[in-house]
Amino acid sequence: MNFQLTKTEFIQYLNCPESLWLLKNKPNDYPKEAPSLFLQKLIKEGYEVEEFAKKLFPNGKDLPEKADPDFTEKQLNTDAKIFFQPSFKTSKNVFARIDVLEKLEDGSFHIYEVKSSTKIKDDQKHNHLKDACFQKYVLQECGYNVSGVSMMHLNKDYIKNGEINAREIIKTKEVSEKIKDLYPMVVKDIEDALHFINRSSINESECSCRYNTRSNHCLSFNYFNKNIPDYSIYEIINIRAKRINELLNMGCNCISDIPSDYNLNSKQKLQVASAKQNTPIIDQASISKSLNELEFPLHFIDYETYTNAIPQVNQFGPQKHLVFQVSIHTMLANGDLSHFEWLGNKMELPTDMLQKMKQFTGLTGTFISWHASFERDRNKEMMAMHPEYKQYLDYINTQMYDLEVLFKEPYIDYRFRGSSSIKKVLPIICPHLNYNALEVQNGTMAMDTWGRMMLDPDFDESIEHTRKELLEYCKLDTFAMVELYRFLMEL
Ligand code: SF4
Repeated sequence: MNFQLTKTEFIQYLNCPESLWLLKNKPNDYPKEAPSLFLQKLIKEGYEVEEFAKKLFPNGKDLPEKADPDFTEKQLNTDAKIFFQPSFKTSKNVFARIDVLEKLEDGSFHIYEVKSSTKIKDDQKHNHLKDACFQKYVLQECGYNVSGVSMMHLNKDYIKNGEINAREIIKTKEVSEKIKDLYPMVVKDIEDALHFINRSSINESECSCRYNTRSNHCLSFNYFNKNIPDYSIYEIINIRAKRINELLNMGCNCISDIPSDYNLNSKQKLQVASAKQNTPIIDQASISKSLNELEFPLHFIDYETYTNAIPQVNQFGPQKHLVFQVSIHTMLANGDLSHFEWLGNKMELPTDMLQKMKQFTGLTGTFISWHASFERDRNKEMMAMHPEYKQYLDYINTQMYDLEVLFKEPYIDYRFRGSSSIKKVLPIICPHLNYNALEVQNGTMAMDTWGRMMLDPDFDESIEHTRKELLEYCKLDTFAMVELYRFLMEL
């Protein structure tokens, strides 16, 4: 076999050789899933950032998206100096498409790698410098002299004010010196990757994630680890790799196999006990104490936000959150419930929302949200942009209660599977409330739907219907909190 290796695959190899081997050698066994909305958003943003980066090279020559390396070679022999998306393939079948390539007077080349992040990442999972080395390797292997490499990324300090100037939003940093020491290691890694993916067999009876936490597992975990039970030790809340190794060495795969005196923290012990007893473990006194301290009226609040690499609204920078929707269910001491909702119909600051929600809630009572740090952070950002609402937003933040904390320890149910996300808790406690019945089922879908409705000239769905679906989704988020609150109060 002589499998091709692309940059994306090389990064996959660096993160997990086994998963890339499976993809190449047994594509039918490789778990396939449609790209998530989140991934599609990243890809779309990547293209948008690239368009701005290209503006910095007004004489650049756009090569067709699918153009092959032979076409590139012909183009490099023309008078053009800047090329967008030229592709190259080495004799060992390593393939690269370069974002921007500059041909210099001395015949050497300068590579520009464009990233939609706000900095050059060099962590283990996203190492942009290794990406740059990969591109350099392919060009050099194809016989071209690479005299420089630069990264282009978003300027994190950029704030939109009118039309976006590419020179202000894009930062260019030469990394030729920085990658000097890294380059030989990446070359070795590429050669190892080629050797590995072309092996006729590997150990498929287990993979290294068997000894690692759930956040590291990919969709191939079950293929490589066939004897892992459904409710396994990986589901234990915040379990560390060290504990996983110990438990596996003790022969414990399943939560119910864990000895009761095994060294876990209090939350983990409660989860294990709940699983063994098949029942939730509830600290009723602590729950009652917390809830009885809340001051009425109770305002159950949830925001939906829109982010984009390229800011769409003045006063916003890359990836900053624009609040486009709010739902508030307000409960009086006698249990009466009223509802306020607001959904933006323009890509603009939510000044109208703040004015109307302040009228609805006033500066009274307690605000309740789920994972409250998100709402608090949005309020802080809105304070900076709307100083006239500082007092109100300050009030919300100081009177904010996070309902999620009650499902982190005082109320533990093994069926939450180590999570306190409302999407895990709600179906267990309130199965009559169901996100699956909605067209918009989570925050990413809400952001994507609203963003397309606002910006996409080809948006062909009914605006009235789409608004109704968005409102239903956010309303369920706050009504779910109301129902969970009622449930806890009745314990
Ligand atoms: S579960 Fe982990 S080690 Fe196993 S194939 Fe996936 S990423 Fe690789």
